[in-house]
Amino acid sequence: ASGAAAAQLRRRLESELEDIRGAGTWKSERVITSRQGPHLRLAGGGAGIINFCANNYLGLSSHPEVIRAAVEALEKFGAGLSSVRFICGTQSIHKDLEEKIARFHQREDAILYASCFDANAGIFEALLTPEDAVLSDELNHASIIDGIRLCKANKYRYKHMDMQDLEAKLKEAQKHRLRLVATDGAFSMDGDIAPLREICQLAQKYDALVFIDECHATGFLGPNGRGTDELLGVMDKVTIINSTLGKALGGAAGGYTTGPKPLIDLLRQRSRPYLFSNSLPPAVVGCASKALDLLMESNAIAQSMAAKTQRFRSKMTAAGFTISGKDHPICPVMLGDARLASVMAEDMLSRGIYVIGFSYPVVPKGKARIRVQISAVHSDEDIDRCVEAFTEVGRKHGAL
Ligand code: PLP
Repeated sequence: ASGAAAAQLRRRLESELEDIRGAGTWKSERVITSRQGPHLRLAGGGAGIINFCANNYLGLSSHPEVIRAAVEALEKFGAGLSSVRFICGTQSIHKDLEEKIARFHQREDAILYASCFDANAGIFEALLTPEDAVLSDELNHASIIDGIRLCKANKYRYKHMDMQDLEAKLKEAQKHRLRLVATDGAFSMDGDIAPLREICQLAQKYDALVFIDECHATGFLGPNGRGTDELLGVMDKVTIINSTLGKALGGAAGGYTTGPKPLIDLLRQRSRPYLFSNSLPPAVVGCASKALDLLMESNAIAQSMAAKTQRFRSKMTAAGFTISGKDHPICPVMLGDARLASVMAEDMLSRGIYVIGFSYPVVPKGKARIRVQISAVHSDEDIDRCVEAFTEVGRKHGAL
């Protein structure tokens, strides 16, 4: 019987995989044989590929000081903890990093997770009860959506960055004990930035708290790279921040929540992905800690990224392309047609430029695009080569 069940399962899985291929939404993974960085080597021979699709905004993933800090932490504190934090898994470096994160964001305390996905999975359930309400932007990241699914609060979804709709939902939610507005600080598909000033004003008017996911903002948005709240002047109005160590802050892995101390204390007691998952490995802690040191010493890296973003956006716009979002290193080149996005991305790779096309269901129908992500470690020449390749490929395929 178990043989028959296994055979049945295999047939079902194969048919599901076939459906994914048939729908044209199959995700294949290119294999990189070098470090993460602006120039990559790919398995199968591609060398000297210029990479425009990592979240390595500040280029710290392969920064020599970040790597050295990881090696030192590995040697001093070992490969890993073989334990969750509250049993036998808290080292001095975990406490130091939490203190540093809180200081960086000017918050009372911080708690580490294995990922920001886990931080988002843990917070809503630990904080909200059926007496409370959560109001979430419809385009929030999948991990926020999943985290909200896990909690028993009353759920409201407002239209993307639509303040009229948020206000209507806040009015409706007045009957609940506590209201939490949850939004990405910067949205990764469009490179657009949440209107946090307006969100915080509405939150004040309707007595709500504000939560932001800063995965695509921490380290580089705002004058000192603190994030969207700093950029928009509302650092004292946003109560809870979740973010990742796996993008701009060294890119190794890990996530966190930072905010009021009693909230962080409660998460240590109640948050399931924290309580029931292994501690962050020392090498990973070492990377993030060094990345934060570098950013707190100087904002030169973030400024260099901003200048390169500006160069790419203005040259592409001058060439006739439409780039979504504003002033963000996520630069979606809007093409509309799904096939056009996929064929152009392939053609870009054949010219040594690694970019990825996104189409439905990842983005709405008719809004296919190639997403370009700028990093502080791209040279001006890298950026110009990318624009040239886009111009050639765009002309060839009728996009210009
Ligand atoms: N939130 C947002 C907005 C993200 O883009 C991501 C990563 O893609 C995550 C959360 C998850 O972060 P992590 O990779 O640390 O799990």
